[in-house]
Parts: sequence; C-alpha cells; structure tokens
Amino acid sequence: MTQPEKIIEKFLEDLQTKYEFQPKNFHFKPDFYTKEKNLIINIHGCFWHNHGCVHSRIPEKNTNYWLSVFEKNKARDYENTKKLKALGYKIINIWECVLNDEKAKARTFKNLELLINGAV
Ligand SMILES: [Zn+2]
Repeated sequence: MTQPEKIIEKFLEDLQTKYEFQPKNFHFKPDFYTKEKNLIINIHGCFWHNHGCVHSRIPEKNTNYWLSVFEKNKARDYENTKKLKALGYKIINIWECVLNDEKAKARTFKNLELLINGAV
C-alpha cells in the first residue's frame, strides 16, 4: 500500500466503515470501495493524472510523449468515472496533493465523512 492509500485506509478505519481495497470485480481496479454506500474512492497521483498543480510539471524531455500519456490517463479517468456513475456508483477521486495539505485534506475528509455517515 502506498502512503496516500494508507491515509485513506486509516480514515475509513477511523469511521469504522467496511471497505474493500482494490476490489477486483470492476472493469478497472478502484482503490477503495465501500459496499454499504456504493462508494468508490480513487487516489489520483498528481503527476500521472496531470493534476495541473505544482506536483504535475510536464517533463522537459520527451514532452510530446508525456503529453500523450497524460491525455490517455485523463481520458481513461473520465471514461471510468462515467461508466461507474452510469452503473449507479458514487465516485470520489482524491488528488494526492490534497492529502499532503492539512487544510485541503480536512475539507475533503469532512465531505467524505458526510457521504459515508450522512443520509446521502
Ligand atoms: Zn495535485
């Protein structure tokens, strides 16, 4: 498990939510799934998913190659999210940099907690 995954895992455990880590019964491998809420949580690495934040600088070498990689990744993220939403899942994609920023993290977790524990 990566560091960002551990942060989410701890959060879910603190909420005492049942979850599956990288469940295999989807057309791609989400990071976390809580069956009870039909909620999928993905962590998006800022570099690979080209967030646009300071952690997602485009390499100066082989720029065109990297741009095409990012385009493909983003298109895939979009398709995955769209497909799962169509199937009735709730999806939360969390950027990795958010987990390294205490304020942003607190805000994101607050929303996530509402989704998991609230009547939503
Ligand atoms: Zn970022």
